[in-house]
Amino acid sequence: KSGFISIIGRPNVGKSTFLNRVIGQKIAIMSDKPQTTRNKVQGVLTTDDSQMVFIDTPGIHKPKHKLGDFMLKVSKNTLREVDVIMFMVNAEQKLGKGDEFILELLAGNPTPVFLVINKIDAIHPDELIGIIENYKERYNFAEIVPISALQGNNVENLLATLAKYL
Ligand code: GDP
Ligand code: MG
Repeated sequence: KSGFISIIGRPNVGKSTFLNRVIGQKIAIMSDKPQTTRNKVQGVLTTDDSQMVFIDTPGIHKPKHKLGDFMLKVSKNTLREVDVIMFMVNAEQKLGKGDEFILELLAGNPTPVFLVINKIDAIHPDELIGIIENYKERYNFAEIVPISALQGNNVENLLATLAKYL
């Protein structure tokens, strides 16, 4: 099994931390130049039975000028072509404008979307159910997976679930 996974989400939700954990190198941070690069491969994870190509999808935020507009179009097309979209959010933050913008972009896109709730180490476990309910109201996610990219909680489970969609 092999396939492409796009990780999207507001800045600082933990996208690079996740990639660094699963790829085990500093690739993600080094290539982290939003709006200047296009659909870059950020890392490839090869296991016994799967290969996952993680790609960066820049420009997934409100464009401020014409180039941003173009980037957004490119990114939207990319999101139709990947096997899975990982929409990462920060468990500590309320669903905000940046998230709404991304969810609107995803509307009508047939690609399965995982809601990955990161930084669960930073919240009380009781808060998780409310967070999940909030996001569920906004989009029909294929899967909802809470993780801590920093500490590694549930990351193996996320990878196993991703593999099912390849
Ligand atoms: P990106 O902009 O989405 O790539 O976010 P980064 O990976 O650069 O992470 C932004 C900040 O959040 C950094 O200070 C990380 O150490 C922190 N961070 C990332 N994942 C976690 C997590 O699971 N738990 C906590 N507590 N902090 C995290
Ligand atoms: Mg980053």
